[in-house]
Amino acid sequence: MHEDRRFEPPADLAASANATAATYEAASQDRLSFWAEAARRLDWAEPFTEVLDWTNPPFAKWFADGTLNASYNCVDRHVEAGRGDKVAFHWVGEPADDTRTLTYADLLAEVSKAANAFEELGVEAGDRVAIYMPMIPEAVVSMLACARIGAVHTVVFGGFSADALASRVIDCGAKLVVTADGGYRRGAPSALKPAVDEAVAKVEAEQSGLVENVLVVRRTGQDVAWNADIDVWWHEVVDESSPDHTPQAFPAEHPLYVMYTSGTTGKPKGILHTTGGYLTQAAWTHWSVFDLKPETDVYWCTADIGWVTGHSYIVYGPLANGATQVLYEGTPDSPHKGRWWEIIQQYGVTIFYTAPTAIRTFMKWGAQIPAEFDLSSLRVLGSVGEPINPEAYVWYRETIGSGRTPVVDTWWQTETGAIMISPLPGVTAAKPGSAMTAIPGISADVVNDEAESVPNGSGGYLVLTEPWPSMLRTLWGDDQRFIDTYWSRFEGIYFAGDGAKKDDDGDIWLLGRVDDVMNVSGHRLSTTEIESALVSHPKVAEAAVVGAADDTTGQAVVAFVILRESAGDGGEEIVADLRAHVAKEIGSIAKPKSIMVVAELPKTRSGKIMRRLLRDVAENRQVGDVTTLADSGVMDQIKSGMETSS
Ligand code: ATP
Ligand code: MG
Repeated sequence: MHEDRRFEPPADLAASANATAATYEAASQDRLSFWAEAARRLDWAEPFTEVLDWTNPPFAKWFADGTLNASYNCVDRHVEAGRGDKVAFHWVGEPADDTRTLTYADLLAEVSKAANAFEELGVEAGDRVAIYMPMIPEAVVSMLACARIGAVHTVVFGGFSADALASRVIDCGAKLVVTADGGYRRGAPSALKPAVDEAVAKVEAEQSGLVENVLVVRRTGQDVAWNADIDVWWHEVVDESSPDHTPQAFPAEHPLYVMYTSGTTGKPKGILHTTGGYLTQAAWTHWSVFDLKPETDVYWCTADIGWVTGHSYIVYGPLANGATQVLYEGTPDSPHKGRWWEIIQQYGVTIFYTAPTAIRTFMKWGAQIPAEFDLSSLRVLGSVGEPINPEAYVWYRETIGSGRTPVVDTWWQTETGAIMISPLPGVTAAKPGSAMTAIPGISADVVNDEAESVPNGSGGYLVLTEPWPSMLRTLWGDDQRFIDTYWSRFEGIYFAGDGAKKDDDGDIWLLGRVDDVMNVSGHRLSTTEIESALVSHPKVAEAAVVGAADDTTGQAVVAFVILRESAGDGGEEIVADLRAHVAKEIGSIAKPKSIMVVAELPKTRSGKIMRRLLRDVAENRQVGDVTTLADSGVMDQIKSGMETSS
């Protein structure tokens, strides 16, 4: 597909940008000194002397002889520097009038109380703590309290089932579970504690005595079952604790957290992140990729705390940088479809970071909704989680960013811990749909089956060729699986699992997971490219493409599309139009064999399209495991539509 649009950085942003062309230059001359300097933006109790120890690959050590405390870096140091009155969080609850403001001084008091309480409950450095909560300040406070005492948190998304929670608690051996009675979803309370009770019973049956306490925040006030042996109320133990707590410094390689990836295939992987390198890269990328000016910016990342994006770009990166943030508990459409834009207007949000799935939903709803709000405070927009289709990128930039704001399309993974490939808003002339180039200090490449770098204009596998500070250190309790999963496809380099191509300028375009790449009559076709072609049709808001087994072509392209509301039902010709449109944009080889217009697509709870399930439908198979699906009714709708259309 051909894409000629370029967006130069705005001159005023470029003139005072945190990262410039000189930053790339410095990093390319001496990568390790560059990261050492980035690490010195943190406060170290004991300064490091060694930057990287790569003597036992793929097990990296960064800044290993230095010591620091992550919570001190995210909270105390800002208060000590006289910025205690600065707002850390404008928390916006889901019942619309439920808000709370926490300054850095407030956050310090809360985190200290929680740290004292956790210690009182017997949690020690190295112990694991599971956090299963709605998007309330106590979730962030719990994570920082763990970091403060050297306990390892594992945050489990509050929408996950009791089974998912139990398996993660067992896998990492958590002795404390922090939760709430419930949270709010579209204005109504929804319970959490019953799932914890069920999970704890499951854990108890398998490993008696593992969970010593369940600490419960009273959020909704709903009735909860109470097990007096292990359950304790947050307001009884945390609120009553002392707001003074002295953080202890830990070695840079001390474990910070375990984050289980969504586990679309097989047993979830417990990605382990450690302290010094992780915090360095999370903080540096948040400062440079979003051009954060902590004194004036209001930053909002819409991710849930249960995903890695919430860890790196709500908790660790922004707080280490002393940012002022919006933290929102609710959904984009409650109480109305302009809720997010209303929040941006109300708090004067300047930097906004969300996912393509949300942007495509807003495209479907129409530009008239954001047009009702004043979004002129925005100056940088970000995207993460999936490839962003060029049309969605342009819509985001024009409709939300008034055509002024740079959009940074940030590629990274739970495993990478922080942003790896992205434009820099003051430097890069960005291309819609491309994540552009590796950020300073990072080495990424696209290689062929023989691990050879492909020439510009060609596609292959995305790899990372040098270790980086926030890289995962291993999979919790399974070094062999860590080696097998990431370091065995190509000798000595990290294989990300994604396909990518380099364009004629050498800029990187993500093409989707290699498992999703299709082979039609011997041609390798990318799901992303065909989806982007479909989304570039004015009637289409969102598209998912899969390869279905086909007797003549090996695989046939099958597409599922969601139309924009302004397109109505699209008319009789819509399928023929869309096939012709793909043929024109990419070539007739990519023309979908069948196209189905659907109301919704199957997505994970983090909003990613689950193509595996669509492949099951397209190949007339029993639909596979749907437990990580956000809305399991979607598959029934699609299947029944498939039957009536064939
Ligand atoms: P699992 O590994 O359990 O299947 P996951 O890969 O969806 O889950 P994450 O680590 O949250 O979990 O997502 C990382 C993946 O998301 C990347 O490997 C890539 O496929 C996709 N991704 C993230 N950001 C981008 C982006 N900007 N452009 C293209 N793809 C992206
Ligand atoms: Mg993954």
